[in-house]
Amino acid sequence: SDPRPTHSRVMLKISGEALMGDQGFGLHPPTVERIAREVKSVHDLGVEICMVIGGGNIFRGLQGSAQGMERTTADYMGMLATVMNALAMQGALETLGLHTRVISAIPMDQVCEPYIRRRAVRHLEKKRVVIFAAGTGNPYFTTDTAATLRASEMSCEAIFKGTKVDGVYDKDPMKHDDAVRYDSITYDEVLQKHLKVMDASAIALARENQLPIIVFSLDEPGGFRSILRGEGTSTRVEG
Ligand code: UDP
Repeated sequence: SDPRPTHSRVMLKISGEALMGDQGFGLHPPTVERIAREVKSVHDLGVEICMVIGGGNIFRGLQGSAQGMERTTADYMGMLATVMNALAMQGALETLGLHTRVISAIPMDQVCEPYIRRRAVRHLEKKRVVIFAAGTGNPYFTTDTAATLRASEMSCEAIFKGTKVDGVYDKDPMKHDDAVRYDSITYDEVLQKHLKVMDASAIALARENQLPIIVFSLDEPGGFRSILRGEGTSTRVEG
């Protein structure tokens, strides 16, 4: 028999780069579709799903400012990039028959809904997948922080951070054969050891709000669903 899912409302955070496939830049529709299917398989378990997608596949504020742009302008461009990714994901999810809403921290009425907390909660209750776009709406932040903020506001039980590897390692597992995966680790350890889970402000906010972060592999087919059924490998950041 099917075990009940481990969580009833979750935040899925993925980087923009997760959508670019092997291209090195931009959006790769078959990859977006693949991730959309992973999301649907978890939605099928009855889990309410929030998503935040980064923008690094299109534009990063820090890169722009390193090349001479004003930081705030570059950051707004980064936030706009996340809106494009959110629309691509919305399209892919709706093709699969899911109901979705894109909600932007920067109002863009012709394109998506503005962020109104109670309305977003209602969408979740109605089993719509809610994709939060434009980060926090503020420069100098990241989409990791946006994911943590919205997860807190939506009372998500955990943030699921989908990456290329199945958890947090003591060193880069792509470069070191002897890298060891943590089953669980505290927020403080992540910060002290400078482990690349999410940026420091996001980790600190998650710690303040006692929001666990579960790092898992999005490259593993069926991986997201397995984790929600209490199977598969991942690292849990909490404490
Ligand atoms: N950004 C921002 N404020 C936010 C979220 C994002 O200014 O609240 C900008 C920032 O320039 C960032 C870019 O949007 O570099 C893309 O987001 P992020 O780097 O988090 O994307 P990811 O690395 O997850 O793809």
